[in-house]
Amino acid sequence: MTPAEIPVELSAATADLEAFRPDMEGCSRCSCCKWVPLNQVRSQRFSQVCPSISYHDFHAYSGSGKLNVSLSILDGRTDLDEAAAEIFYSCTMCGACEVSCKVYRNDIDLMSVLNEARARAVETGHARLAHLVMVEQMEAENNVFGEPQADRADWEEATRHLPLVDANTEQVDVLFHVGCRYAYDRSQWGDLRDALEVLVATGMRIGTSRAAESCCGFRAYETGFKNELTKFADDMANRVRTSGAKMVAVACADCFGAFNHLYTKAGTPLGVPVRHVVEIAAGLVADGRLRPVARPSQPVLSQPVLSQPVRRITYHDPCYLGRRGQEFNGWWDPGTDGNKLDRPDDVRRRGDGGRYDEPRAVLDALPGIELVEMERIREFSWCCGAGGGCLEAAPELSEASARERLEEAFATGADALATSCPWCVHNFRSALDGMHAEGDTRSIEIVTLPALVAESIAGGKTEIMGETLPEVTL
Ligand code: SF4
Ligand code: SF4
Repeated sequence: MTPAEIPVELSAATADLEAFRPDMEGCSRCSCCKWVPLNQVRSQRFSQVCPSISYHDFHAYSGSGKLNVSLSILDGRTDLDEAAAEIFYSCTMCGACEVSCKVYRNDIDLMSVLNEARARAVETGHARLAHLVMVEQMEAENNVFGEPQADRADWEEATRHLPLVDANTEQVDVLFHVGCRYAYDRSQWGDLRDALEVLVATGMRIGTSRAAESCCGFRAYETGFKNELTKFADDMANRVRTSGAKMVAVACADCFGAFNHLYTKAGTPLGVPVRHVVEIAAGLVADGRLRPVARPSQPVLSQPVLSQPVRRITYHDPCYLGRRGQEFNGWWDPGTDGNKLDRPDDVRRRGDGGRYDEPRAVLDALPGIELVEMERIREFSWCCGAGGGCLEAAPELSEASARERLEEAFATGADALATSCPWCVHNFRSALDGMHAEGDTRSIEIVTLPALVAESIAGGKTEIMGETLPEVTL
């Protein structure tokens, strides 16, 4: 199948690029979207913020360039041909351009333009073949990898010791959505188990949909197949409803961005709070129910805290847990005489509503760990490169983005790079493998933040800790 042969039901006309004409026309071509805002710049080396313009080094690939190309298409000065589509798809959809733009301006919904431009590309037969395959697989097996739906709960092999409830047949407090990468990437089942151990520490009834779970649908939407989202959103909402869950929990930033932001933006909110495990861990630490202790390898029993060996950790903010995951709290319509520059503060969405404090609070609470920050953090973070369909259709750009982040992590001198998303973990580990294959001898451990928490708590961690530390209570 070629992109031009996209089935009608996948390509039905839903793109509304025209609705965002004022955003495109509002671009002053100042190029601030290529850089970290000036007051955030720490060095020239790490001052860029857009993986696409950084990789291609040509204006059209920047956020501004994509607005300009979109406007040219609307005005009939450019065809949406393969060249234009390649520009739209050379993008991790990380949202860094929008944050930088909104520091200086308030009137451009840059990511909405990129979403609509991609939807227009799908409609006109210019989808990426890799995305078409992915979406077909999502249609057939409800996951982005095309793995059998029946195998979706195989991860349970790694969590048999945990009291998880079957949310298909029993009522639960929390419905944990595993997500495609954790469900099918066996190499990350240890991280999944650690995330679930943190959740179980809340004492609430934690359930999963087991093999009945489906993809969140985010990747279909982000790659231009907007129509596909409805099916996955309806399915998720139905499972939340029948399980009686008061909360949805996730350990994947993509799923967080889908449930917490996109579903509301697309008009299909889940109706219950969505929490990432990192937020839940931060809450447990804050209310004193989780008191992490040092890892067993550290001489905790005989030496004072200050003499413990320190593990230096740097933290990568996943885009969809950060700037692209913050709550969608409504469109701002300035009306015919209005001006988007008057947008009220509560719907500005400049990326500062992401989950930045929670992971840092958790790291702060872990004994023997020192947080050493990279230069581009929080809403100004550099992307891991795995998002926006880049991993599937623009792998060189995806890997270049991951390598750039690794360079920034190396510059901190950290022993480990922690993050809160299996897609970031996957991209960083494979980029590091690629660097090693080329003879680069530098290394850094890639870990998840829940894994760091799980290392330091008692209760069923015998396979990791080798012992239960009785002084820890949950
Ligand atoms: S920062 Fe905003 S206004 Fe300036 S060039 Fe980029 S998109 Fe246009
Ligand atoms: S979303 Fe990210 S990669 Fe795409 S144009 Fe904006 S900053 Fe660049």
